[in-house]
Order: sequence, then C-alpha cells, then structure tokens
Amino acid sequence: MPHSICDSIHSIQDELAPYNARLVAVSKTKPSSLLMEAYDCGQRIFGENRVQELVEKAQTLPKDIEWHFIGHLQRNKVKYIAPFVDLIHAVDSWKLLQEIDKRAGANDRIIKVLLQFKIAQEDSKYGMADEEMYRFLEQENWQELSHVQICGVMGMATFTDNQDQVQSEFEKLHGHYQRLKSNHFAENEDFKEISMGMSGDYQLALKTGSTMVRIGSSIFGARY
Ligand SMILES: *Cc1c(COP(=O)(O)O)cnc(C)c1O
Repeated sequence: MPHSICDSIHSIQDELAPYNARLVAVSKTKPSSLLMEAYDCGQRIFGENRVQELVEKAQTLPKDIEWHFIGHLQRNKVKYIAPFVDLIHAVDSWKLLQEIDKRAGANDRIIKVLLQFKIAQEDSKYGMADEEMYRFLEQENWQELSHVQICGVMGMATFTDNQDQVQSEFEKLHGHYQRLKSNHFAENEDFKEISMGMSGDYQLALKTGSTMVRIGSSIFGARY
C-alpha cells in the first residue's frame, strides 16, 4: 500500500520541524481532489508551475490557500496570477521583476518573490548566473519597486544520484544567500528564505540550510 497523502505530509512535516522549514506541496498536474486531501490534513501552501492550471485551481479551491508559483514565468503571463499569487519562486530577470511589480501595483498588492540562481550544471535549468545576479543587484534600482518584496533565493540542483554534487550546489546557493544578505539585505528582515530541495534531495537541502522545500511526487505520487 502506498502512503496516503495525509501520512506523507505528516511525516515530511516531522522531518521539517527541527529545521523550522516550510513545506510547499507541489501539486502540478494533480487533480483538485488530491489537493483537497492535502488541504483537509492541514496543508495550506501549494506550488504550481503552469499559469493556466494555477488560475483554474485557485478559482475553485479554498481561499485561504497560499499559492506559490515555482516554475519559469513568462512576463506576458504575470497579469493572470498577480491578483492572488503569494510567492513567486523563480525570478530570473530584472524585466520579470519589473513586470511583477507593475502587475502587483495594478492589483494594489505586494507580491513576494525569490531570486533564482542557476546552480545546476545542466543547461535546462533556469536562473541567473552569479555574475548576472550581482550585476543586477548593483546596477538596477530594484529598491524602488514598492509592490514586490524580495524574500530570499531559490535554486534547483542537478538531477543526479551524485550526492556530493547536489550538496555542493546547495552549499553554493547558501553562500549566495549569505552574500546577498550581507551586501544588500542586511537591514531587511523579509530577506530570510532559501527555497531548495525536492522529493529526491530535500533531506540534504535541509542540512544545508533550506527554509522552504518544494515537494511533489513524495506526497502526491509520480507524475505521468
Ligand atoms: C516539479 C517541481 C518540484 C517538485 O518535484 P518532485 O521531485 O516531484 O518533488 C520542485 N520544484 C520545482 C521548481 C518543480 O518544477
């Protein structure tokens, strides 16, 4: 018998507790009935990576759900999620950040965001290269955007069985977080999140300082 959704959430929550980390239940491709199972056992943060799917689920599911957008976000789609999205994990350009600010303002809201670093070796992973991120923080007037709140960093490790490699990529992200914190966000109490760790690597991520894990298949089963 596979574990129930509720059992899986409880056992993951037990693992997160000593680290004070939060669980984003990644529900992409899964039907709303399964999200409701998770909701009914107390889960309130859900992560999706397709705009249309997120909009449809948010329309029908309970209003106290905190919706996180975890995937690559196209600028022309920000407007669809701006009325309700709580946290956008993967901001990978200055132009995207400006667009989020503009659309949040139009909705009279503040949207929380994380800056995505490219930490994996694979080319397929989005995110800003180190130099690009540091150039952006030094040169653009992001401090003047009043409808976004930059809350930390996010990254995805290489999909590999090599634990040493995954660990060193998580350490790299943790190092970037600390450097950004001391160089740009020392006075900013909102800047405190490191979003890293998925079903296959979240235990390692927790040991390396993750504050937010994004877990899908270990809760809802494999995606096909
Ligand atoms: C799908 C996805 C996850 C969750 O992956 P699992 O391996 O199913 O836990 C986490 N983060 C991002 C950005 C994703 O797209």
